[in-house]
Amino acid sequence: MKAHHALVADVISFSWVDGPGNRFVLFLQGCNFNCLACHNPQTIPLQTPRATLYSVEDLLLKIRASMPYISGVTISGGEATMQYEFISELFQAIKTTPDLQHLTTFIDSNGNAPEDVWRSLAPVTDGVMLDLKVLDDEKHFELTGNSNKQVLDSIKFLASINKLFEVRLLLVPSQNDSDEDLISTARFLLAIDTDMRVKINAFMTHGVRATARSWSPANSQDLQRYRDLFLSQGIKNLV
Ligand code: SF4
Repeated sequence: MKAHHALVADVISFSWVDGPGNRFVLFLQGCNFNCLACHNPQTIPLQTPRATLYSVEDLLLKIRASMPYISGVTISGGEATMQYEFISELFQAIKTTPDLQHLTTFIDSNGNAPEDVWRSLAPVTDGVMLDLKVLDDEKHFELTGNSNKQVLDSIKFLASINKLFEVRLLLVPSQNDSDEDLISTARFLLAIDTDMRVKINAFMTHGVRATARSWSPANSQDLQRYRDLFLSQGIKNLV
């Protein structure tokens, strides 16, 4: 990867669902997980002719074109931290440019990044939205092809430096939504922060690959059960 450039899968000028406020969102190409439930599997390979190479300067121009309608910039993926040096440069440029430095800088991550990556990003990152696929490592391996050890370490570390904005749970009926899964997840998160912000995302089948296409989407009863169970366990900051 060339310095000052990123492989980008997509750019969205305005989004209300990728962090607080209205945000410019950059989806970086490449992921270090291979989730069966991935809604954007085309973003997984790092090398693909569909990706576009952007410089920091290219993106600053695009961000300026979205102003004054945005309150911040979110970098998502794929897995954003696979190109963390670029994120660091882009966020550094935002934080040191007078007409841009009011914008908040957020990362949407699967959490599969070591502590030194988070340490390098922390000075220029306002918050991280982190996906926890499932707490049980065996299930995590089945669902993503990888261990969740680094994800759990990332949650703890980011919370300890006050950079964890929220933990996101994509709940998939019969895959990661048993009472045992939800209760153990709630206990794990509350042990780190009694006011942990948790966002529940309902699994849908659009965009997923063959295996997950046969799974049931999460319906309104499922969502109510998830909410009730988390609330009963003491998760107060539920979105
Ligand atoms: S971490 Fe996200 S982008 Fe990567 S494979 Fe999983 S769902 Fe897809």
